[in-house]
Amino acid sequence: MNPLYAQMGTTIFEAMSARARETGAINLGQGFADGRGPEAVLQAAAHAVLEKSNQYPPMAGLPELRHAVADHYVRHQGLDLTPEEVIVTSGATEALAAALFALIEPGDEVLLFQPLYDAYVPLVRQAGGVPRFIRLEPPHWRIDAAALEAAVTPRTRLLLLNNPLNPAATMASAEDLAMLADFCVAHDLVAICDEVWEHVTFDGARHLPLIGFPGMRERTVKIGSAGKIFALTGFKVGWMCAAPPLARVLSRAHQFLTFTTPPNLQWAVVEGLTTQDAWVQDARHRFQAGRDRLSAGLSAAGLAVLPSTATYFLSVDLAASGIALDDLGFCDRLIDAGVVAIPVSAFYAEAPVNHVVRFCFVKEDATLDAAIARIAAAR
Ligand code: PMP
Ligand code: GLN
Repeated sequence: MNPLYAQMGTTIFEAMSARARETGAINLGQGFADGRGPEAVLQAAAHAVLEKSNQYPPMAGLPELRHAVADHYVRHQGLDLTPEEVIVTSGATEALAAALFALIEPGDEVLLFQPLYDAYVPLVRQAGGVPRFIRLEPPHWRIDAAALEAAVTPRTRLLLLNNPLNPAATMASAEDLAMLADFCVAHDLVAICDEVWEHVTFDGARHLPLIGFPGMRERTVKIGSAGKIFALTGFKVGWMCAAPPLARVLSRAHQFLTFTTPPNLQWAVVEGLTTQDAWVQDARHRFQAGRDRLSAGLSAAGLAVLPSTATYFLSVDLAASGIALDDLGFCDRLIDAGVVAIPVSAFYAEAPVNHVVRFCFVKEDATLDAAIARIAAAR
């Protein structure tokens, strides 16, 4: 048995959703939205499964989807991507695995920012990589250039950046990204950019992709997910975009992970990317209203809510709220009160921040109100 997996627990998202199912608690833990997603996308999926081929589509994705993804980034982010530079994957998770497996040689060091999405470290280790951590802290979660320089060694090959950042709900500024680009160029690093939250941004903030910064076009793998763009997390349709020399290697890893992704869901995402910009814009406003509702309710209950400018999440600082429990203890107390949340220490591989709890706000108003009442009573 591989000790990496033999000694591993269940991912926090599944563990917490299981507790919500067992107890009937309101699930503000795992990040998924109430609602059905855009109707046209659902119709396209149903139509495609009945009317189009359900045999293996091309390995790198349906040409129509590769085209739609490239075109989407040209329109929304001013990038000059071509369809040949897009590889469709089964969710961003597969893209992360393919990119890390394809680019890491055993012993290579990978720079990771903590807090981090919990799949990163196991994937880096399984690829034979050595994680090197840069710690970000609340309330600003800012990247410190000196800490970055201190983490780099002659063995460093990759930097893995999640922007916007789950669970901090922050977006890297143009200055931060310019600094990261200069850093990658100076140390000859490839950047893997997990940008699954690129469209879930608030208050008019615009996502800036690192691949668009000077020197990054040839050394960046940009990862996206239709599950987040259309609030259809179960779809598991994602992609990775990179210049041809990188894309060629990425596709070799992809071919022996999943080989391909269900064609009807790919057709549905083509429909979404080509016709649903207005839905995405509207969803942003609805999600922002949910953020404001939960934030106001928790603040009124005396909790110190940290700013959220992106993602489905906001966090509460327990220490700043005068709550003596750590995040795990407070999450247990909340489950007793009928609400599931995520302890932010789960996003650290070492030296965890353990006084912050994450809540998902992309829920119906009535659900948020019921959760707020329960949290206020339990705090
Ligand atoms: N990266 C981050 C930062 C995420 O938050 C998630 C899940 N929400 C993923 C990757 C996984 O995306 P997918 O469901 O498309 O695999
Ligand atoms: N990314 C989602 C979250 O942060 C969960 C994804 C998963 O459950 N694997 O809640």
